[in-house]
Amino acid sequence: MPTESTFLFAGLLFLAAALGYVFARFGDDDEEEEAEQSARTNFLRGFRYLLNEESDRAVDVFTGANDLSDDAMETQLALGTLFRRRGEIDRAIRLHQNLVERQSSSVAQREAASFALAEDYLSAGLFDRAEEIFNRLRESRVHGSDALRRLLRICEVTSDWDRAVDLCAELNRLGSGNVSPPQLAHYYCELAEQARVQKAPELARQMLSQAEAMEPGKVRTALIRADLDADYGRAVDSIDSLIHLGTVRPDLLGELLPRLMGLATTPQGRERVAQGLRQIGATPDGLRGIALGVIRDPRINDPFALQFLAVFVSGQPVLNALLAPEDRGLESLAGVPRLRPLLHTILKAGMRFQCDNCGYESAVMHWQCPGCRSWDTVQPTSSSVLEGIVT
Ligand SMILES: [Zn+2]
Repeated sequence: MPTESTFLFAGLLFLAAALGYVFARFGDDDEEEEAEQSARTNFLRGFRYLLNEESDRAVDVFTGANDLSDDAMETQLALGTLFRRRGEIDRAIRLHQNLVERQSSSVAQREAASFALAEDYLSAGLFDRAEEIFNRLRESRVHGSDALRRLLRICEVTSDWDRAVDLCAELNRLGSGNVSPPQLAHYYCELAEQARVQKAPELARQMLSQAEAMEPGKVRTALIRADLDADYGRAVDSIDSLIHLGTVRPDLLGELLPRLMGLATTPQGRERVAQGLRQIGATPDGLRGIALGVIRDPRINDPFALQFLAVFVSGQPVLNALLAPEDRGLESLAGVPRLRPLLHTILKAGMRFQCDNCGYESAVMHWQCPGCRSWDTVQPTSSSVLEGIVT
């Protein structure tokens, strides 16, 4: 968000540009000179209000101006953008709406103003109005692809994933690489999730195949497939997929462990889960991932899962020192029940996920960053106090 001084600085730049422009156009013709004089007076009044933080009066002056040159139009568009970025959406809308409705505006000017107005509506969360304008601009040579990208964003916010897939195809027709395959794979994953919720497993599997075709080996695709297998009585397949994921991505064990424990409800399932976890826990990263997963989820109380925590604690000098002297270094379960609530509290005190792109922090996993809308940029972090004291 620009600061007040940024805005004032931008205003001064406009003032300088406007004065230079107006003086440069002074002509000999009396009528022309009078019109130029009036335009200059209006600009000066408008910017004086702006610099005095009387934004509404400034907007009154700008919207009341007569015919606009391209330069003056650009200045007003930029001013509207600054209002929007300051969160003064009403003022931005007034300014841009006025530019759209001017009889004297050229087609190019009207398109530019319409795009800016739709951006205002998007910022204000008025998706219907924004969508209507972006749809009209789809055929625009200058704004067409940007309008499609904004429509895609609206689809993401409104969970209209079918349409998102169609828009991706349209965008890629305009230029290959406009939409990345991993992003498109997420849209198919969203459709698979919807189909799963609607108890349409065949459709869900079709969507997962599409996602797989877009990005082979995608973690999210594998997770949904495992959930789908679990839903329809294929627990062994589900366990095998989750164990495989935990082996290649031990940092995701916090997400995987609750699913695995939910599948360890039969003797066969329990044995398979235990066998898989022993395999994962044989590596330092795997053991750490399982232990942190157990600490994170207080519902996990199966002794064979808790044993991994006991082994982990015994190998960590700082954590081991928290145990009663008789329990230290024994890899025994005796000290775990007393220590676990404390470890859980410490772990919860830190944020567990952070966006690589914008730094957004969250306590839960997001496939799409709520801050910058990027996909696959939110990752588990090592920023919590607990993860800082274990090795
Ligand atoms: Zn982000």
